[in-house]
Amino acid sequence: MGCPYLAYRETGDEQSFDEARAFCTVVDEFVQPMRADICNDRYELAHERHCEIYRAHEGTGEEGSADT
Ligand code: SF4
Repeated sequence: MGCPYLAYRETGDEQSFDEARAFCTVVDEFVQPMRADICNDRYELAHERHCEIYRAHEGTGEEGSADT
Protein backbone atom coordinates (compact mmCIF):
# COMPACT_ATOMS: atom_id res chain seq x y z
CA MET A 1 0.00 0.00 0.00
CA GLY A 2 1.39 3.38 -0.96
CA CYS A 3 1.77 6.52 1.08
CA PRO A 4 -1.52 8.15 2.15
CA TYR A 5 -0.08 11.54 1.19
CA LEU A 6 0.52 10.54 -2.43
CA ALA A 7 -1.74 12.01 -5.08
CA TYR A 8 -1.64 12.11 -8.86
CA ARG A 9 -2.13 15.51 -10.40
CA GLU A 10 -1.73 17.17 -13.77
CA THR A 11 -1.31 20.62 -12.26
CA GLY A 12 0.26 21.98 -9.11
CA ASP A 13 3.49 23.47 -7.79
CA GLU A 14 3.06 26.08 -10.56
CA GLN A 15 3.54 23.38 -13.21
CA SER A 16 1.22 21.41 -15.45
CA PHE A 17 1.66 18.18 -17.38
CA ASP A 18 -0.28 16.19 -19.98
CA GLU A 19 -0.27 13.09 -17.78
CA ALA A 20 -0.89 12.99 -14.06
CA ARG A 21 2.30 12.77 -12.02
CA ALA A 22 3.04 11.74 -8.47
CA PHE A 23 2.45 14.65 -6.11
CA CYS A 24 3.26 14.83 -2.42
CA THR A 25 0.48 16.57 -0.51
CA VAL A 26 2.72 17.09 2.53
CA VAL A 27 5.12 19.44 0.77
CA ASP A 28 2.79 20.38 -2.12
CA GLU A 29 5.36 19.43 -4.72
CA PHE A 30 5.63 16.92 -7.53
CA VAL A 31 7.68 13.88 -6.63
CA GLN A 32 10.82 12.91 -8.51
CA PRO A 33 10.49 9.55 -10.31
CA MET A 34 12.98 7.83 -8.00
CA ARG A 35 11.09 8.97 -4.92
CA ALA A 36 7.78 7.88 -6.45
CA ASP A 37 9.00 4.30 -6.00
CA ILE A 38 9.18 5.00 -2.27
CA CYS A 39 5.76 6.67 -2.32
CA ASN A 40 4.30 3.58 -3.99
CA ASP A 41 6.24 1.09 -1.82
CA ARG A 42 7.86 -0.51 -4.86
CA TYR A 43 11.02 -2.62 -4.91
CA GLU A 44 11.16 -3.42 -1.19
CA LEU A 45 10.89 0.29 -0.41
CA ALA A 46 8.45 1.55 2.20
CA HIS A 47 7.33 5.13 2.68
CA GLU A 48 7.30 4.83 6.48
CA ARG A 49 10.92 3.64 6.52
CA HIS A 50 12.51 5.40 3.57
CA CYS A 51 10.82 8.79 3.22
CA GLU A 52 12.14 11.48 5.54
CA ILE A 53 9.24 13.73 4.61
CA TYR A 54 6.69 11.16 5.76
CA ARG A 55 8.64 10.40 8.92
CA ALA A 56 8.99 14.06 9.84
CA HIS A 57 5.30 14.68 9.14
CA GLU A 58 4.19 11.70 11.22
CA GLY A 59 6.70 12.42 13.98
CA THR A 60 8.24 8.97 13.65
CA GLY A 61 11.86 10.10 13.40
CA GLU A 62 14.47 8.45 15.54
CA GLU A 63 15.12 11.61 17.53
CA GLY A 64 14.69 12.03 21.26
CA SER A 65 17.11 9.38 22.50
CA ALA A 66 19.97 11.82 23.13
CA ASP A 67 18.79 12.74 26.63
CA THR A 68 20.76 10.95 29.33
S1 SF4 B 1 7.26 12.09 -0.70
FE1 SF4 B 1 7.06 10.89 1.21
S2 SF4 B 1 5.35 11.88 2.30
FE2 SF4 B 1 5.25 12.57 0.19
S3 SF4 B 1 3.86 11.13 -0.84
FE3 SF4 B 1 5.94 10.33 -1.12
S4 SF4 B 1 6.26 8.90 0.57
FE4 SF4 B 1 4.51 10.19 1.09
